[in-house]
Amino acid sequence: MRLYQSFFNENEHYVTPSEIIEFLYCKRFIYFMKCLGINQYEEKRYKVQKGRAMHNQKERINKDYLRKKLGVINKEISVPLISHHYRIKGKVDEVLELEDGTMAPLDYKFAEYKEKVYSTYKTQIVMYGLMIEEIYDKIVRKGYLVYCRNGYKVIEIEIDNKLKSKVQSYIQEYTDVLNGYFPNATKYKKRCTDCCYKNICIKK
Ligand code: SF4
Repeated sequence: MRLYQSFFNENEHYVTPSEIIEFLYCKRFIYFMKCLGINQYEEKRYKVQKGRAMHNQKERINKDYLRKKLGVINKEISVPLISHHYRIKGKVDEVLELEDGTMAPLDYKFAEYKEKVYSTYKTQIVMYGLMIEEIYDKIVRKGYLVYCRNGYKVIEIEIDNKLKSKVQSYIQEYTDVLNGYFPNATKYKKRCTDCCYKNICIKK
């Protein structure tokens, strides 16, 4: 990925999918941590961090399956991605080139599919899609999640304009918070119970 390496300035902050997912858990938490710089005391607070250690144990879906079932004509593995337009970055497990001329991200999850795709997974795959569109100058209309605990079940996610706009608005809001915008508290009060900022967080 020459584009990634040659134009990436390490001193500029580019938002990752993990940061956006943490942000959606509680926007105000990110305000305290990233805008005011008040350190959190419990690094493993977010459920999203669970399972990362297992991440490298995945096997790959074989090429025949990808070609026959998904219409894949080419793929790249472990691809670093970036969007200068949205100021986001990340690394996706696979970038697929499809026979209809579009492209798609594919990401492995060390999880079980329970008939519903978590919104956090959707947000992450859409961010990969936005970056792929910018780097490869191709349309992304879908992405794939592979659930390793279900015999590598492949689930297709439709990445339409509505979903892209929604994720773009999260990215913008995240940037606003970094620049000093004070966001509302989470509406899920249970999340505040073990929060290290609960004593300084005036909820409304
Ligand atoms: S106390 Fe609740 S609303 Fe405030 S930062 Fe913590 S989780 Fe968010």
